[in-house]
Amino acid sequence: MKEVMHSKKHWAPGSGVKILRVARTDGYGWNVYAAVPEKGTCPDCGIRSSRRHGWRHRRLLDYPSHGEAVVIQLRIGRWRCTVQHCSRRTFSDEASAN
Ligand SMILES: [Zn+2]
Repeated sequence: MKEVMHSKKHWAPGSGVKILRVARTDGYGWNVYAAVPEKGTCPDCGIRSSRRHGWRHRRLLDYPSHGEAVVIQLRIGRWRCTVQHCSRRTFSDEASAN
């Protein structure tokens, strides 16, 4: 699984995803709110960071279940790398998963 190259488009979160909330949508179907772990790993220096820079939401999946739409709203963190010699300032969970 780790050897497979994922494009951004096909990126999928690892096993640490937590379901935060499941809510009925206005129309029909369900929104499933999920979040990735509370720490990110810098893709350049490999140091984990818990300095959150911000969040954004990504619509990850959209598939029917018993005829109703199920949308996964994944909360993805942006992190700040605090390592002095690392040239990267911020990174996202998507980058660290690649
Ligand atoms: Zn770094």
